[in-house]
Amino acid sequence: MALQALIETWKDAIYDPAFEMVEQWKEKTGRKAVGYFPVYSPVEILHAAGLLPVAIFGAGNRLEITNADSRFGSFICSIAKSTMELGLQHRLDLFSGMLFHSICDTARNLAFLFKRNFHPQLFVEYIHLPQNNSTDAAVDYLTSEYKRVAKNMADLAGREFRTENLEKSILLYNNNRRCMRRLYYALRSDAPHLLSTSDFYLLGRAGCILPPEEHSLIVSNVIEELSKNQSKTRDRIRVVLEGSFCEQPPLELLAVLEDAGCYVVNDDLLLGLRWFEQDLEFNHDPFRSLARSYLHDSCYSSVRHDCLTSRSDMLLEKVRKSRADAVIFCIAKFCEPAYFDYVLFKNKLDENNIPHLLVEFEEKMRTFEKARTEVETFVESILFD
Ligand code: SF4
Repeated sequence: MALQALIETWKDAIYDPAFEMVEQWKEKTGRKAVGYFPVYSPVEILHAAGLLPVAIFGAGNRLEITNADSRFGSFICSIAKSTMELGLQHRLDLFSGMLFHSICDTARNLAFLFKRNFHPQLFVEYIHLPQNNSTDAAVDYLTSEYKRVAKNMADLAGREFRTENLEKSILLYNNNRRCMRRLYYALRSDAPHLLSTSDFYLLGRAGCILPPEEHSLIVSNVIEELSKNQSKTRDRIRVVLEGSFCEQPPLELLAVLEDAGCYVVNDDLLLGLRWFEQDLEFNHDPFRSLARSYLHDSCYSSVRHDCLTSRSDMLLEKVRKSRADAVIFCIAKFCEPAYFDYVLFKNKLDENNIPHLLVEFEEKMRTFEKARTEVETFVESILFD
């Protein structure tokens, strides 16, 4: 199937609130699926337990919020509301469990709302991630937390958890993340004109719903096909997109950024798909390797606590490595962690004379004209400086 046709197929599957693709996988394999909330979910453990891990990024703009509003205060991000709405409208009934972890107060409260409303039909698991990564005790603690989750997930799958399966799953996801890194660093950064930002995003997002081996194959084929393309770059600025590590911006907004004159050469979209900067290595205990990698080798974001390195410095490093001209902060409305960091990031960029712009989004965003005008003006101010 041609690339464009493939991307259109995924688009429907990715934003399908009925999760038909997951239903088909369950029928074909006779196995169970578990949903997971972004950002740092250890999908290797779910996969090794024999489950299909499926990322739940809310419902985008394809679901009316009719019940979830009554469960939250007013100032809450859309992903939390629409994920709850999916549950209340029984759209998550095909999942046997949901996995959350401690990225922020909203995600924590959502996990316990899920427990209160959907347990025991839906098994709800919650990982308490360590806040201090400067000691070995954090590795010990997270290793035991992962082992606890593995046991619960294996019980859910109705089988025994085998450590050798985890080793195999780590290798599979290593390969998948290697493909994603190639896509980002070889293609996205060096030849951003070969694939539009929205198609690039859909290609990555397919990995949140497909088994890793299938997704790796697709990504490798696309890289190979596109590397034969000889088309030329246009006169656009190179930008890093920052702040969309959890709730995802509407596809239309990504298209607007590009139409307004930006090449997105790096971003923090779908961060969980490539949360390790290098392959995860393991010797005798794969759980320990997973824990150590989360604490020391994972991509930074505003919801990963790091006492050893400054996130502002990491953003600066990302801008330099990507040879970006500017940063566009693309932040979900009411996302507190992203807005707390925005102040620090902004100061760091100002100190280094790197232009930046803030574009706020929410799932129900219907008009993009204001964002288009702001981005166009921003681009012109850089191009004609
Ligand atoms: S969008 Fe921000 S506030 Fe909302 S759940 Fe995600 S990290 Fe938390």
